[in-house]
Amino acid sequence: MDRFAVASALREMGRLLEARGDSPFRVRAYERGARAVEGVADLGALVEQDRLREVPGIGPVLAAAVAELHRTGRSERLERLRAQLPPGILELSLVPGMTRKRILALHQALGIRSLDDLKQACEAGRVRTVKGFGPRTEEKILAGIAGLATREERVLLYHALREAEGLLRHLRAGPCVTRADAAGALRRCEETVSELQLLAAAADPASVVDHFAAFPLLATVLSRNLDHCAARLPDGLRVELAVTPIAAYEPALHRLTGSHAHLEKLGAVARGRGLALDEAGLHRAGSERPLPVKTEADLYRRLGLPWLPPEVREDEGEVEAPAEGDTFADLLTEGDIKGLVHCHTVYSDGKHTVEQMARAAEAMGMRYITITDHSPTAHYAGGLPLDRLKRQWDEIAKAQEKVEVRLLRGTESDILADGALDYPDAILEQLDIVIASVHNRFRMSSEQMTRRLVTAMRHPLFKVWGHAQGRYVLTRPPFDCDMDAVLDAVASSRAAVEVNGDPHRLDMVPRWLREARKRGVRFVISTDAHSTAQLRNVRFGVAMARRGWVRKGEVLNALPLDAFRRAVRPGAAA
Ligand SMILES: [Zn+2]
Ligand SMILES: [Zn+2]
Repeated sequence: MDRFAVASALREMGRLLEARGDSPFRVRAYERGARAVEGVADLGALVEQDRLREVPGIGPVLAAAVAELHRTGRSERLERLRAQLPPGILELSLVPGMTRKRILALHQALGIRSLDDLKQACEAGRVRTVKGFGPRTEEKILAGIAGLATREERVLLYHALREAEGLLRHLRAGPCVTRADAAGALRRCEETVSELQLLAAAADPASVVDHFAAFPLLATVLSRNLDHCAARLPDGLRVELAVTPIAAYEPALHRLTGSHAHLEKLGAVARGRGLALDEAGLHRAGSERPLPVKTEADLYRRLGLPWLPPEVREDEGEVEAPAEGDTFADLLTEGDIKGLVHCHTVYSDGKHTVEQMARAAEAMGMRYITITDHSPTAHYAGGLPLDRLKRQWDEIAKAQEKVEVRLLRGTESDILADGALDYPDAILEQLDIVIASVHNRFRMSSEQMTRRLVTAMRHPLFKVWGHAQGRYVLTRPPFDCDMDAVLDAVASSRAAVEVNGDPHRLDMVPRWLREARKRGVRFVISTDAHSTAQLRNVRFGVAMARRGWVRKGEVLNALPLDAFRRAVRPGAAA
């Protein structure tokens, strides 16, 4: 088995352990192990030389499983798990209310091993004969099964991305697949995704659909035909695969990427040029025959437009912008980022030391990293009193002797209820960077919150407004305040706005980033990392910035070290 097949077997083990009710730590260990295996360059050599355990994330149990899978293509542990649990458990767990106990009871009493079995048994009124089930449960189960085809399960962008990467690797390894990509909301980097839309190019679509449907981590296949397959993953996320011949690939990718509003607007542009853009592709009005369009860029060119990046395809003015001279050519990219901002260490609530964070940043090719632990008021997050802050400065100096990447010292200072910052100015002035964030008292009135933020932004030392609106995607809405007033204060003060890359925050939202840009505000793309792995959050920050139309020239941590230091130095003159 190659590393991807091994990783997928590890993930199946994790999912089965989860279904069995094992501790979330063990379940996560399998997911971590799967990712570690995917990342190794030469799995064969590591197995041969018995060096698997040197890979971070692989302990003795996982190492044995990986070696066995690699050598024999099977795992005794996986087979034991499959045998221990009722067959079809991943699929049956998708139905609301179907706990492991109930699945087991139905398996033992009626031999149910799949969604089809369950549906038939309910329809025939056999489920009600099992102890603990009644006619009402049967109705609920049938409604749950019917709902599976349409149920919307929203997941966070990073989660969708991880699932899509696994599926795409499987697809690309498939028979004669020449290309495979994610389209839809995921390609546009929306904060949440309710469906993974995948597209593959192949000469023989039917064999790709077969290959896809055989992916062990699909909990159930909802529907399929010769060039299309809809399925659900064990966490309920819906996946749609379409397969096209290579010649039709990019036009199909464009249509499946959307958004709907963007496509509508392009349709209007097409009509204005005597063309039509629809399901059949781009064609002359009155003719069914599609015009030869090989790439997305071709398609836009025929509409008199430059290629528009997926992240801006929302009909928010992007179709009109090129006429005013804005082609989005300088939209921020991940490669523009030169330093990692907003990083926590063991000094507050982070998992890794200053040196570990620095080495990880260096391994990512970064030129600088800012260490910004919490300030005293965030005592629940280990906020640093002055003496500990000074001890951290010593540690930063020591770590600096061992690494090339430049370590900058900073703080994530609480914005107190009255808008003051958490350390005296004399201390803040000695820092390289000050991030100022709201961490408590979210429920003050809009007027109070606005006053609090405006006061903080007008503080004479330069600061970065951290996770601006205090939201958690899907779980906590942004707090109330007059954003226009606060952004006006940012624009006229020594302040910049953070684009927070923590996949749960992704704050501030693209709409307000665009509003901030109009005022000439500068940005920092941050990681809000609490571990070395989370330094990679920067990619989500970049994705949000792109959705907010942020340009390289507007981003402070796209600057080289010296210019960045000058731009964010708290005490420097305006
Ligand atoms: Zn924070
Ligand atoms: Zn933070």
